[in-house]
Amino acid sequence: MTMAKLADTDPGADAARRVDAIVVGAGFGGMYSVHRLRGMRLNVLGIEAGNDVGGVWYWNRYPGARCDVFSIDYSYSFSDEIQQEWTWSEEYSAQPEILAYANFVADKLDLRKDFLFNTRVISAHFDEDKHAWILATDGGEILEAQYCIMATGPLSIPKEIDIDGAKDFKGKIYRAAKWPHALVSFKGQRVGVVGTGSSGMQIVPIVAQEAEALYVFQRTPSFTFPMRNKPIDPDYALQVKKQYATLRALARNNFTGGNRPMSTRPLFSVPKAEREELLEDGWRRGGRVLMGLFSDALRSMRSSPSSCAERSPRSSRIRIRRGASRRGAIPFFRADPASIRTTTRLTIGRMFI
Ligand SMILES: Cc1cc2nc3c(=O)[nH]c(=O)nc-3n(C[C@H](O)[C@H](O)[C@H](O)COP(=O)(O)OP(=O)(O)OC[C@H]3O[C@@H](n4cnc5c(N)ncnc54)[C@H](O)[C@@H]3O)c2cc1C
Repeated sequence: MTMAKLADTDPGADAARRVDAIVVGAGFGGMYSVHRLRGMRLNVLGIEAGNDVGGVWYWNRYPGARCDVFSIDYSYSFSDEIQQEWTWSEEYSAQPEILAYANFVADKLDLRKDFLFNTRVISAHFDEDKHAWILATDGGEILEAQYCIMATGPLSIPKEIDIDGAKDFKGKIYRAAKWPHALVSFKGQRVGVVGTGSSGMQIVPIVAQEAEALYVFQRTPSFTFPMRNKPIDPDYALQVKKQYATLRALARNNFTGGNRPMSTRPLFSVPKAEREELLEDGWRRGGRVLMGLFSDALRSMRSSPSSCAERSPRSSRIRIRRGASRRGAIPFFRADPASIRTTTRLTIGRMFI
C-alpha cells in the first residue's frame, strides 16, 4: 500500500467519503468488528472483496471443506441469543453449514447494510495532517476514517499457481480457495490433487469417491488423525445450550481456545502401559483428543504426534499433514487407499497434457 499508488487513485481529499471506522473483510472477524463498532455508536463501513459475508467460508467451497475444531467452539460467544437460536448438526461442520451460520448472524444483526461488497481495498495510508486513514478501492472510491480495522484474515490470498506449463494445461484447474459456486463433478475424470495440506487432505477422500483415477502429489508428508465426525445428538445440543456460559469461560482459559481437556503431564512422565492405553483411547476417540493427552504434545519434538507415530504401529495410518501452522486434527481417508496413487517428496517440475 504505497503513496505512489494512492497518488494514482486519490483525486483530492474533498472527494473522500468520511466515516468513523472502516473494517476491511466480512469474515468472522470483520462481521464482529462491524457489530462491535456500531455498538460503540460509530459510523462504520465494512468493505469486502467477495459478494457476501463468510470470509474463508465464502471462498473455500471445495469438496470436503469443514472445520477441524468442534463447531460448538467454532462459533460466536458474544451473543447468547445467537448461540441459543443456532444449532449445529455435526461435531465438525462442513463449509455449507458454516457459511449458513455466517449468513444467519449477518441477517440477525443486519450487518449487510453497512458493508460494501464486491469491493477490494487497494491502498491504505495514514494522513498525519488529517489524522485519518485514507483508503482507495478498486472501484475508484476514496474513503477516510479515523479507525481502520484490517480483518483480512490470514488465509484470504490464495497462492498463485507457479508450476511451469500450467497456463497451457488443457484440462481444468481448480483452486481450493477460489472454488466455483456451481457444483463440480469429477465423475469419470482423472484427477490430480497437488498438495496435502489441510485443504488437499479434505479434498482427496471426497474426490476419490467419484473420480476414475486420483493422483495425489505430495511434497511433504506428515501426520493425520481420524476425525471421527458424527451428528450432534439433540439432547447433547440442549445441554450445551444450557451450559454455554460455563463452556465459553472454560474455552477462554484453554490453551487451544476450545473445550478439550489439556493434560498437565508430559508424555514420558506417564508409565509406559498407561500412556499406551491413553494413546489407544485418544486414537479411538479421534479429533484433537490426542493433542490434549500430554502437556508437551505440541511443544516437545520427542512427544509430538508425528514422532510418536514414527515409533508406533499406527504409523502406517498416520500419513499426511494438516497445515503445519495449524497442527490440527484430521479427517481420515474413507476411500480405499489402494485407489489413490500418491507421489511423495517430489516437487512438480512441469505440467502438460
Ligand atoms: C478450509 C478452512 C478450514 C478452517 N478451519 C478452521 C478451524 O477448524 N478452526 C479455526 O480456528 N480456524 C479454521 N480456519 C482458519 C480461518 O481462517 C479462521 O478460523 C477464520 O475464519 C478467519 O476469519 P477472518 O475474519 O479473520 O478472515 P477471513 O475469513 O479470511 O476473511 C477475510 C475477508 O477479507 C476479505 N479481504 C481480504 N483482503 C481484502 C481487501 N484488500 N479488500 C477487501 N476485502 C478483503 C477477503 O475476501 C475475506 O472475505 C480454516 C480456514 C480454512 C480456509
